[in-house]
Amino acid sequence: MTSYDVAVIGGGIVGSAIARLLGGADLSVALLEARGDVGDGTSKANTAILHTGFDAKPGTLESRLVARGYHLLGEYAAATGIPVERTGALLVAWSQEQLDALPGLRDKAARNGYTACEIVDAAEVRRRVPALGPGALGGLTVPGESVICTWTTNLALATDAVNRGVRLLRGHRVTAVHQGADATRLTTTAGEVTARWVVNAAGLGADRLDALFGHDRFTVTPRRGELLVFDKLARPLAPCIVLPVPSSAGKGVLVSPTIYGNVMVGPTAEDLSDRTATGTSEAGLAFLWEKAAALMPALTEEEVTATYAGLRASAGRDDYLIDLDAGQRYLLVGGIRSTGLTAGMAIAEHVAGLLGEHLDLAQRAGLPAPPRMPNLGEAFTRPYQDAAAIAADPEYGRVVCFCERVTRGELRDALASPVPPADLEGLRRRTRVMNGRCQGFYCGARVREIFEGENE
Ligand SMILES: Cc1cc2nc3c(=O)[nH]c(=O)nc-3n(C[C@H](O)[C@H](O)[C@H](O)COP(=O)(O)OP(=O)(O)OC[C@H]3O[C@@H](n4cnc5c(N)ncnc54)[C@H](O)[C@@H]3O)c2cc1C
Repeated sequence: MTSYDVAVIGGGIVGSAIARLLGGADLSVALLEARGDVGDGTSKANTAILHTGFDAKPGTLESRLVARGYHLLGEYAAATGIPVERTGALLVAWSQEQLDALPGLRDKAARNGYTACEIVDAAEVRRRVPALGPGALGGLTVPGESVICTWTTNLALATDAVNRGVRLLRGHRVTAVHQGADATRLTTTAGEVTARWVVNAAGLGADRLDALFGHDRFTVTPRRGELLVFDKLARPLAPCIVLPVPSSAGKGVLVSPTIYGNVMVGPTAEDLSDRTATGTSEAGLAFLWEKAAALMPALTEEEVTATYAGLRASAGRDDYLIDLDAGQRYLLVGGIRSTGLTAGMAIAEHVAGLLGEHLDLAQRAGLPAPPRMPNLGEAFTRPYQDAAAIAADPEYGRVVCFCERVTRGELRDALASPVPPADLEGLRRRTRVMNGRCQGFYCGARVREIFEGENE
């Protein structure tokens, strides 16, 4: 049994960001993930917006970490090639009550340190998003809101962690905790792992893991968000993110361009009890269709490419629950519900601040450079468009998935990467393969052949 200085449980964006940061210090670190791949939980199925934090509750830890994470992830994206499109957002008021709420939202943004919001009139709203349905009375601009690739974010952080020496243990679901005087023994589905310190970043499973440490302080409610993804031909309809004015019922349904060149409508917000219920529902999709028809009628003339759902880890409170128990050498990162993609790197920094009182977290000299991630963004050059890349390596000219223009070279690279995919879904998240209109109908068999061939 190997023993580590720190075990981080959960290979989503939050756990991967924490493992990456701790992996830069002179410590032995393990990242334990229950599933076969990193980023296979909530982090793979969200609306993928890099939030400015303009609408967070001022004064909360969440508001501070979202604002900080926005900058940290923006810089990291530039260094690693995680695609980001700085589209900006427009909050649209459809009623007098919503119009009256706009100055308050602008002031709230300012209290969160975000001062770039501006109130615009109905004509300006229409100029910015001509395809909007009738009836918009005005809007609030949020120029910094951006769309990002959540898959590449998770993968870049995990790859960076591995390059820094973190031991990635996939297929290790923690099922029991045995606390000793100097170390904690974790029983997992793939054997035992011992660590001096344990960080619980288990997302939807964080409360159950917390209970294994003897705590009874919160319950995770899976809050399902369903989404409709429209075909790429719809993209000109959504030049920026169109946000609703938030109400007591939550943030509401948005229309957003995706980093892959589609348009997305969603998410719903529905509290469930089943933490595995990531399927979509007839009622949810009908609701979204109705919303799409009202917000942007032209969308309903377009094809729907895909539907999906994600589960937010709601902890029944208005803030993150991050707590260090020095006696147990245990740190909980709980309740990271709807902003964890943006805040992940800032959460890691905050966690390092707490652990730094007990562990030497000075970063080692000569750390490897951040990984250079393959570009999945539609707005940037992809291998099939890159004559120089194809001349140097003809595999980048061999298109396998025609809907998404994914080449043989990209599949090969993903399969040979430091964190290779465990299955076809993992390959999809690394390359966009089978992600398009045909959803793998044409290329699926060939992709499987390549996946199995390279894994022989
Ligand atoms: C519909 C929707 C829309 C969203 N939109 C946005 C957005 O636009 N912008 C934004 O910033 N955020 C958004 N979010 C939130 C964001 O996706 C999450 O906050 C973030 O992904 C949480 O990451 P995580 O690492 O905490 O959790 P996860 O990604 O769920 O990672 C936790 C991991 O822990 C593992 N695990 C659980 N139990 C155990 C165990 N016992 N042993 C080992 N491993 C375990 C799980 O398998 C999982 O992989 C959205 C979320 C949803 C659902």
